[in-house]
Amino acid sequence: MNAHALGFPRVGINRELKWALERHWRGEIPETELVAEADALKRRHWRIQANAGLDLLPVGDFSLYDHVLDTMVMLGAVPARFGRSSGPTDLKTYFRMARGDAEQGVPAMEMTKWFDSNYHYIVPELAPDTRLAGDGSRLLADILAVKELGHAAKPVLVGPVTFLLLAKEVDGCNRWDHVDAIAQAYKGIIAELAPHCPWIQVDEPVLCSDLGPEAEKAFRTIYARLADAASCSRLLLATYFGELGDNLDLALSLPVDGLHVDLVRGPGQLNAVLAGLPADRTLSLGLVDGRNIWKTDLGTALRKVSRAACTVKADRLMVASSCSLLHSPVDLTAEKQLDPELKQWMAFAVQKCAEIAAVKQAAAGRKPRLFEENKASLLARGAHRGVVDRKIRDRAGAVTPGMLERASASAERSAIQKERFALPLFPTTTIGSYPQTAEIRRDRLRFRKGELAEADYAAAMRGHIAETVARQEELGLDVLVHGEPERNDMVEYFGQQLNGFCFTENGWVQSYGSRCVKPPVIYGDVSRPAPMTVDWALYAQSLTDKPMKGMLTGPVTILCWSFVRNDLSREEVCRQIALAVRDEVLDLEAAGISMIQIDEAALREGMPIRKALQDDYLRWAVDCFRLASAGVRDETQIHSHMCYSEFNVIMPAIARMDADVISIEASRSRMDLLDAFSAYDYPADIGPGVYDIHSPRVPDEDEICELLEKALAVIPANRLWVNPDCGLKTRAWPETLASLDNMVRAAKRLRANHE
Ligand code: GLN
Ligand code: ZN
Repeated sequence: MNAHALGFPRVGINRELKWALERHWRGEIPETELVAEADALKRRHWRIQANAGLDLLPVGDFSLYDHVLDTMVMLGAVPARFGRSSGPTDLKTYFRMARGDAEQGVPAMEMTKWFDSNYHYIVPELAPDTRLAGDGSRLLADILAVKELGHAAKPVLVGPVTFLLLAKEVDGCNRWDHVDAIAQAYKGIIAELAPHCPWIQVDEPVLCSDLGPEAEKAFRTIYARLADAASCSRLLLATYFGELGDNLDLALSLPVDGLHVDLVRGPGQLNAVLAGLPADRTLSLGLVDGRNIWKTDLGTALRKVSRAACTVKADRLMVASSCSLLHSPVDLTAEKQLDPELKQWMAFAVQKCAEIAAVKQAAAGRKPRLFEENKASLLARGAHRGVVDRKIRDRAGAVTPGMLERASASAERSAIQKERFALPLFPTTTIGSYPQTAEIRRDRLRFRKGELAEADYAAAMRGHIAETVARQEELGLDVLVHGEPERNDMVEYFGQQLNGFCFTENGWVQSYGSRCVKPPVIYGDVSRPAPMTVDWALYAQSLTDKPMKGMLTGPVTILCWSFVRNDLSREEVCRQIALAVRDEVLDLEAAGISMIQIDEAALREGMPIRKALQDDYLRWAVDCFRLASAGVRDETQIHSHMCYSEFNVIMPAIARMDADVISIEASRSRMDLLDAFSAYDYPADIGPGVYDIHSPRVPDEDEICELLEKALAVIPANRLWVNPDCGLKTRAWPETLASLDNMVRAAKRLRANHE
């Protein structure tokens, strides 16, 4: 029986890859030094896995930026604007594809989320004239390095059909026209690698999504051609991020030697897989969660192996992580400040490797000590006082449908609010944060380090707020914000003030390229011991006669951007967070704040991959937003903000949130969004973002006017707000002032035209 991880995190325990990449991009270290750092990391990660007792060491899971980008390079699918050459792609071109070239005005390739994870990949482009040709030489070098260390290498490839489906069709291309070429290219690569490794892992996570007939056909055509190329090696078809569901027969029918299934995200599929598995097929059991930080229940995992062993001979079983460990932090032992009790419940990538090996050992009849420890810590976790709080459970259980309803319907509220606020046509506002200057960061850091007393810190923050409010007054904005100087991150800030959360020092996970995130951990029942934002909001409101928006992060976004406990459904956890946010909303209202914005930046990205699961998600996600927001009086205006485009399909859900005003990122996908508004009669006020905040570029007045005129074709004038795409915290003041000044002028010009 083989034990393996589908892939290992790349960043390194101290984020060595991040630092090396950024030094290289700043021109501080040459390519050779970057490559040497990468090689050292790869070797360290192989050593960790080998020492843990894993049999197959992944190769090709490491990447200097992104494994999908690596696949493009491996296939020679480099778009022409990056200077296509016939030879292998050099590193300079590689990074230009990932990051663009500001000097030459070449934009980076698009980036988007890897399925429903927080990892972002570079979107391949397929043009009619894209010529695919496989080159496995880089992988081969790593395979040989692993062999030299005395271990068995397992190259990991992004599967051909997944690659085709993730790609964007450009210049009128049809992705399926490339089926033959991609089969040929993969065939070449597999033939090149096969003599040097027992297994080749081909990742086809799209098998856990809804496939159309063309994709199915492509699977059959391509895999029929790959079968003989592998000859002396074996192909392991890896599926993850869910159940195979209606693609099970397809997966079982493909001529591969092994199938990997995700038994964490798809625990119910084991029986069906076992029932259909051909007699000569190896089965890899994904038992250790690659996307979370909790210890595996080893006893349960072992029972699954035993169940499989009734049908499949042990030498045709593998024990594995559910998916690549890319999505979990690297090493728990680096956590020095975490509550030791909570730490006991966790496993990061290094610890997960040991878990995989332990299950394999136990299946062979030698139960390692880890099993005893595991049982004890799971029991302790279940009994911990913070995990189940009766009061919170009772409160969540007593939520009534009435708590999700505003007193009056949206049109009536709108009339009441129009009178209360008496805003001009096309009111101008911003999304929440203002530039986080070096001074602001320094003040926060000094406070965290204890160098700044609480009172001095509060005074410093008040100073930043006062300055931001004064600037907004000067610009002539209609609805103001306090600017969020006290927040380092929109989720962490709230997590730190809620019960049930804990934080790691070093639990970094790659988001894209050199960017990493450190999600908070939700380990127990969530509640709010005290008001979180009321003082700041009141202070900000005291500085102006204009409405000051209270600013909160919504329950769905807090959930999506955290590591969530796995002993309670996401819906339940979200409901608890929603109740905590509801408390804050009502306190803000009672303190006299008249507009409250509840950001749900992550609402769209939390959607399950499978269509069949999406309605249920949208039901509880929207209900949680309503639970958080609906307790206020009619005259209190609820705002919400969402980013990351592609809202068309969820317009009915957005309408059901029943906010009085929504602001949505739009400038990057302007046409799409407006299409959605013409197709769907959105009932409330809306501010489609009029400029992209991701670059320092200052949009001019004409350009903003034009966009607003376009928006007016589908949004009634008395419901249109004017705002940027998102928060301004990553921007500097000069461009922020210039952009907002143009935005306010554009709104005024539009008003004049409409009077
Ligand atoms: N209020 C937040 C801000 O302005 C919203 C951020 C977001 O949507 N990502 O920073
Ligand atoms: Zn946003």
